[in-house]
Amino acid sequence: MASNGYRNGTGTNKGAIKPPASSNIRSSSFKSRLPPSSNHSPGSALRRTSSASFTTAAGVPGRVRVAVRLRPRNAEESTADADFADCVELQPELKRLKLRKNNWESETYEFDEVLTEFASQKRVYEVVAKPVVESVLDGYNGTVMAYGQTGTGKTFTLGRLGEEDTSARGIMVRSMEEILVNVSRETDSISVSYLQLYMETIQDLLDPANDNISIVEDPRTGDVSLPGATHVEIKDEQSFLELLRLGEAHRIAANTKLNTESSRSHAILMVHVKRSVLGEEVAIPTESDKSSHFVKPPKPLVRKSKLVLVDLAGSERVQKSGSEGHMLEEAKSINLSLSALGKCINALAENSAHVPIRDSKLTRLLRDSFGGTARTSLIVTIGPSPRHRGETASTILFGQRAMKVENMLRIKEEFDYKSLARRLEIQLDKLIAENERQQKAFDDEVERINLEAQNRVSEVERNFTDALEKERLKCQMEYMESVKKLEEKMIENQQKHQHDGFMKDKCNGEGPGFCEDIAVIKKLLEKETHMRKEAEKEVNKLKSQLGQHMDAGAGGDAEILKLQIALEDEVHQKKKLEEEIIILRSQMLQLTFEADQMRRCLARGGSGNAYPGLDSPMSQVRDSLSGHKTPVSALFDQVGVEKILDLLESEDANVRIHAVKVVANLAAEEANQERIVEAGGLTSLLMLLRSYEDETVRRVAAGAIANLAMNEANQELIMVQGGISLLSTTASDAEDPQTLRMVAGAIANLCGNDKLQATLRSEGGIKALLGMVRCRHPDVLSQVARGIANFAKCESRASTNGIRSGRSLLIDEGALPWIVQSANNDAAPIRRHIELALCHLAQHEANAKDMINGGALWELVRITRDCSREDIRSLARRTLNSSLLFRSEMRRLRIEL
Ligand code: ADP
Ligand code: MG
Repeated sequence: MASNGYRNGTGTNKGAIKPPASSNIRSSSFKSRLPPSSNHSPGSALRRTSSASFTTAAGVPGRVRVAVRLRPRNAEESTADADFADCVELQPELKRLKLRKNNWESETYEFDEVLTEFASQKRVYEVVAKPVVESVLDGYNGTVMAYGQTGTGKTFTLGRLGEEDTSARGIMVRSMEEILVNVSRETDSISVSYLQLYMETIQDLLDPANDNISIVEDPRTGDVSLPGATHVEIKDEQSFLELLRLGEAHRIAANTKLNTESSRSHAILMVHVKRSVLGEEVAIPTESDKSSHFVKPPKPLVRKSKLVLVDLAGSERVQKSGSEGHMLEEAKSINLSLSALGKCINALAENSAHVPIRDSKLTRLLRDSFGGTARTSLIVTIGPSPRHRGETASTILFGQRAMKVENMLRIKEEFDYKSLARRLEIQLDKLIAENERQQKAFDDEVERINLEAQNRVSEVERNFTDALEKERLKCQMEYMESVKKLEEKMIENQQKHQHDGFMKDKCNGEGPGFCEDIAVIKKLLEKETHMRKEAEKEVNKLKSQLGQHMDAGAGGDAEILKLQIALEDEVHQKKKLEEEIIILRSQMLQLTFEADQMRRCLARGGSGNAYPGLDSPMSQVRDSLSGHKTPVSALFDQVGVEKILDLLESEDANVRIHAVKVVANLAAEEANQERIVEAGGLTSLLMLLRSYEDETVRRVAAGAIANLAMNEANQELIMVQGGISLLSTTASDAEDPQTLRMVAGAIANLCGNDKLQATLRSEGGIKALLGMVRCRHPDVLSQVARGIANFAKCESRASTNGIRSGRSLLIDEGALPWIVQSANNDAAPIRRHIELALCHLAQHEANAKDMINGGALWELVRITRDCSREDIRSLARRTLNSSLLFRSEMRRLRIEL
């Protein structure tokens, strides 16, 4: 009954309809004209907003529906009015009512529903109350009110309990029945208050002591509530019936006390329905793709609605205030509420600017029912008696005016914070419990895995340590045994060699003992190799065990680390063992080699030169050429050149010496040279020269280089790697004749390379060669002489081919005096080289003058006469004869060849 509510704005259909009502009323059925929606739910058609508490913004127009119900004649009327016709005539099919003025005149009124005296309670409920109840279930407020003269059936229509005859049940019981059927016991709740309004006082029919309840209006929403009233929760129909009975009893008691009748008070039953619903899922189209939607989950909402059932006091009081038997005060008060209701309805029907809601408690209580947001149905009850025609007419007019009141139905929803919080709490609780359970399970599992890992780690560790220790001891013992045996063999061999030296006639140099020794050593080595393989296998096994374990175990990092360290130790040990094996092998190689050498010497009766390649390159071991490998080569294959070369960098000086010897011996064999160079042996040997620390090493390295330097390709490599200057430095440093012999031999070999002439000179090679004559050892001198001869030969070849001209570099470097001086050396090899050198030098006119001045001519002449070799004699003669300068000098000196 809000003053600012929506109203029927036409204002054309006032009062009685003569002729029948305008088309808009005619067309309206009693059932609401809410927008069509599924399952009869006006609320679902409405847009929800996200505010915490709200009503729907626009609302749905909903006119107050009015039905008229005629009570059948009662016994008294049947007799008293037997001769008179009813004052009304109903045309229910046309929803019209004719009110007879007299026998020939009547007025016709149209209602939303016209219920005859035969209308059943069920039908009355269905057409009057059911739509309202359904709206309430949907979340709207609803009002069903009975208006009419006392005795016309208001209480009969609304309040009958129908205890004996369920078909007699009135709207209150049927409404509750319907509500109970439709709500959920888990999520929804229903409570009722039952009140009586009498003389502007609100009494609680559920608690008679509570007899002055005040009305509270929410200034923000305009909602009316009675906080003082008792609210009783309803769980089933039975409890509701009891409540109604109780209320009725209290009403009678109260009225007796107040000395009045029920018909003078208004009875108001309020049913509060609270329902939990889920908001709609909101689909939001994305910008890119209109067809795909992001769906927001529904929000928990609570709908609070109220069904107000009002059994008004008899309407006759409106007209007959101060009627007999009543106090003036009472009459005024009773009239106040009803007349205020009439005024408000008039104002609303006429679209009046002022609606006097505040004039009475009844209008205040019903402010939402008329002109507000509730769906309202009014049933006006009339009696048939022509004696009460006036009352009936006034009731009909009241109903007609009420039909013009337009409400704006609005649903009211709130976020169900409580239930949301409750739900979230339960969910949270569940999650916490689950989390705790999972954490506990996880902790247990971790502990179990840790324990298992620890056990496994210690087990593996134990096994590993045992195995390692065993293996280590075994290897150590085997190794020591091997070394001992080798030493014994070595001593034995040495003794044998000495003995063989003296007894060479007997033994003829063919010591079968050597072969046996070698066979024994070989066996030892094989055993050693086998053991090493076994050890490797064991280590690999343990490694894979460790790997598996590391995969499986989550914990035990420290143990694994320890294990890894142990493993690394083991690998280190294994490496050492391998190194030792290589050393052993190479020692054996060396021994074999020496034995071989010894045998050769014995066979030759020679001096036992360990480096055969130098004096006579062609005298190298040539066994390999005969198609089968020498024992040395076979061993070399077994050990592998890389491993021997690695030993050159060993930390152990003895190992280094030993290794360099092996390399030198191998380098003496042409077949091995390429492999040695490919494996970087040459570079390693040159490095040894550079980082000179031990004379033996230097000597042997130089020897090996000398042997390698026999090959042309290697000569160039030596040059490229700075070998000439390294050899030159060694030549000037060294004192040991054997070292000098090796260095001289190496340089001599380089001197035989046509391409190296210039570099040899520029890097001091020739100077170094000549410098070495300071050592008078014939072996050294022999190598120097060979170098000079080689160099002279190359120069001569180049000059003949026109590649070079001018004086010999040897003469430039001051070699001539020593050449001349050595031409008569006692040692045949020296002499032979010098003689050749002189011949080569003499072949070129550019050298002739210096040679003559240096006394070389005399030597050449001597060669033509004294040289033991015929070819050299004739070479010298030819050379001298072909030179103009020599010839003229010989003529001058009167020398004849
Ligand atoms: P009110 O509440 O309007 O004063 P009641 O509901 O007390 O009227 O009705 C008065 C009497 O008429 C009651 O005895 C009631 O049983 C009877 N009555 C009312 N309406 C009907 C009806 N539609 N059919 C039969 N009896 C009725
Ligand atoms: Mg009554």
